[in-house]
Amino acid sequence: MKGNDFDVVIVGGGAVGITLALELDRLEYRVAVIERFEASFSSSNPERVVALNYGSRGHLERLGIWPGVAAQGTGDIRHIVVSEPGNRGRVDLDAADGLGFAPDMQELGYVVEMGKLLEPMYALLEVSSVQLFSGAMLQQFNISDDGVDIDLQSAGQNIHLKASLLVGADGTHSQIRQMAGIGLYGWDYNRFALVASVSCENGHNDTAHECFRKSGPLAFLPLADGRYSIVWAAAPAEATQLLSMSDEVFISALQRAAGETTISRIGSITGTCKRASYPLELSVAKQFSKPRIALVGNAAHTIHPVAGQGMNLGFRDVVSLVEMLDGELAHRDPGQSIIMQGYAEKRRLDVMAVAGFTESMSHIFGSEVPGAKWLRALGLGKLPVAPSLSGLLLKQASGVAQLGGSQ
Ligand SMILES: Cc1cc2nc3c(=O)[nH]c(=O)nc-3n(C[C@H](O)[C@H](O)[C@H](O)COP(=O)(O)OP(=O)(O)OC[C@H]3O[C@@H](n4cnc5c(N)ncnc54)[C@H](O)[C@@H]3O)c2cc1C
Repeated sequence: MKGNDFDVVIVGGGAVGITLALELDRLEYRVAVIERFEASFSSSNPERVVALNYGSRGHLERLGIWPGVAAQGTGDIRHIVVSEPGNRGRVDLDAADGLGFAPDMQELGYVVEMGKLLEPMYALLEVSSVQLFSGAMLQQFNISDDGVDIDLQSAGQNIHLKASLLVGADGTHSQIRQMAGIGLYGWDYNRFALVASVSCENGHNDTAHECFRKSGPLAFLPLADGRYSIVWAAAPAEATQLLSMSDEVFISALQRAAGETTISRIGSITGTCKRASYPLELSVAKQFSKPRIALVGNAAHTIHPVAGQGMNLGFRDVVSLVEMLDGELAHRDPGQSIIMQGYAEKRRLDVMAVAGFTESMSHIFGSEVPGAKWLRALGLGKLPVAPSLSGLLLKQASGVAQLGGSQ
């Protein structure tokens, strides 16, 4: 390699940025990753987890990451129960029902702790040719006809890199997106996602529960150790109360919020850990690419966690960008306009469909407007057309809707 010359420089060493780096390394691109923190894989309290769908498992398997993730233990989702407290109807989704469109599908998804997902990725990165600048901050970049000049600071040193393509994988508040002058569509939900891990009398039986409450959804995701990780969307005042109340009072509030349908399945909640909260927003970049710049993962789109789709969507960005970069034309100049435009076009429909689906889930279940009640009845299995809706939910939850092509 010629000094600090790269084909692709990726800013952001989260799961999306690292899988992209590994894929491009396999395609023999010269790749660098700039990450502002030193890697750390220890468990947080509460655990920060993501539910990865069946489609994302395939992506991680192709990269050789999945065995390392599975070896550390995943919470397997074989069933999903969607309910609305106060409404006795519900939708039951079962991995076995997916046989028609994904015959090998045993599970709908896998709940993985973020550190346990990143650790095997970084282990592979270490034995790859990718150059990692960790504890490094991007200072500025300049785009010219023949490439991007990038200045960063690492361990008190100024470092200059040159690349054909600069990828923003730097999360929701992407510096790359802002410095490239790419605006956002979206809004602040004025809601927080409160997360905690809880144990229940009956264990989880590989079942995830989605409870759609008027004030926001509440999800129970099965963990490898038999507990549930909860994600509870709450208004700021409610979230503040939930964060500050005693464990005992919190457990009572959680049981009330989950409603009878869920509690009758999981049993009483017997314990909780510390709680944490994350602000919720919808933001979709107005452009996913510009000449010599591409955005992936949360840098391109941040969606409500209600349907657990953000990371899954980010992995599909990686698949699409790699498809565009896998060819002789791209190897001549990976940042050229035609490749960048092709990537943006591939992603537009999927991102808008998932963002729209996620939005409609939270609105239909949270709304009192005329027609919403009818849609809820439809969704919760009280009307005869419900099986088709169940099928749609099943395909979305498993990621099978997007298998066989990332367009
Ligand atoms: C409560 C909650 C629950 C969720 N549950 C799910 C779920 O069940 N399923 C799912 O699919 N998704 C879920 N998501 C969404 C998911 O967590 C995100 O979509 C995913 O983490 C995005 O990955 P990323 O790599 O794009 O960004 P990030 O994970 O944010 O990583 C960005 C990386 O870039 C680095 N960085 C940032 N700025 C710079 C800079 N200037 N220079 C260098 N490095 C920088 C950061 O340190 C970080 O390492 C959830 C989100 C929340 C908030």
